Amino acid sequence: MSKLLQGAVLALFTGIGALRAAQSPPLPREDLVYRFPTANHSLIDGRGEDFFMYCDRNFEGQKSKPWEAGGYGMVRNPFRASDGKVMFSRIHEGVDIKPMQRNAAGEPLDLIHPIAPGVVAYTNPSPTLSNYGRYVVVGHRIPEGVIYSLYAHLARVDCRVGQRVGTGNVLGQMGHSGAGINRERSHVHLELALMLHSNYDQFSPPSNKHGLYNGLNLAGIDPVPVLRACAQGQPLSIRQYWASLKEHYRVRVPYHGERVDMLRRYPFLLRSPISANTKSLDVAFTAEGVPLGFYPSTQTVPAPSVISCLPAPTLQQNITVNRLKNSSKDAALTASGLRYIQHIFHQKTGVPSNSPSAAVPSPPAQKK
Ligand SMILES: [Zn+2]
Repeated sequence: MSKLLQGAVLALFTGIGALRAAQSPPLPREDLVYRFPTANHSLIDGRGEDFFMYCDRNFEGQKSKPWEAGGYGMVRNPFRASDGKVMFSRIHEGVDIKPMQRNAAGEPLDLIHPIAPGVVAYTNPSPTLSNYGRYVVVGHRIPEGVIYSLYAHLARVDCRVGQRVGTGNVLGQMGHSGAGINRERSHVHLELALMLHSNYDQFSPPSNKHGLYNGLNLAGIDPVPVLRACAQGQPLSIRQYWASLKEHYRVRVPYHGERVDMLRRYPFLLRSPISANTKSLDVAFTAEGVPLGFYPSTQTVPAPSVISCLPAPTLQQNITVNRLKNSSKDAALTASGLRYIQHIFHQKTGVPSNSPSAAVPSPPAQKK
């Protein structure tokens, strides 16, 4: 990671402090100091194996416990690509942090702290209502908008919605609640994310029990650069972080002057002004589906269409969380990819003007 990037991360969090101080009574000084969510800081020394919780893997007849599968990105469900390279088809939209302390029964004892000052936006105290198990979401107001941190698989939730928290506060205790996790693999799943739509609770399927704070409504970035840089005391802005992310594909979406919720909340994502001649918005995404920027275009398009895509030694559905299909030359949106675009562009009044139907239910969150 560049010094610039490292530096920009801290500005993100010191920016939170400065902004909050301007809006409300100042937080205690120690609250402006960034921290890891638990006492596990081994990432700083480059000891990934001590920081990330492994996953159980069975690939080509070999069983293994790779700690790399606890990192962010396309790190799960390995397969062999056409060039012989091992690739991964399933995203992990956060990082899994190992416990430092366990009791005699093997239960983790680590307390979970917010990674920066903020306000508790959501708590799910039920171990069964989500793949995340018990989880907490904290909102952090920064100059570019509100960014969210999420802490999952907790044994206990020790905070309440609306509570202002500093990095000295405890959100809960590490556990192994949720799907696909046992006591041995106890960890905290940490996400850092932008919200995709502030009306998701109004158009999400009835199976959504978590309103705006369903993982499907949060587009996660890799928290590791933030954790590393803040620990090193370097400033970083979210704009610089975004500039470091790699574009994989771009989708052209019809535009008729409607309000785009995500641009209202994150104006930095609009890369040039919208004019009377704007007929579509080209949205750039990482392979993982993080929206990198919205580029106004004078080109018309009847429905959301892929206009660029980087090549890969496998079909695009294998590396884009099944949002694109075919090869880079004839890449197209899958049904899931179209739903994702509809999600981002959904209008408060109902069906988005640019798509055949917005009533397609989304699958349950699988992001743990
Ligand atoms: Zn996880």
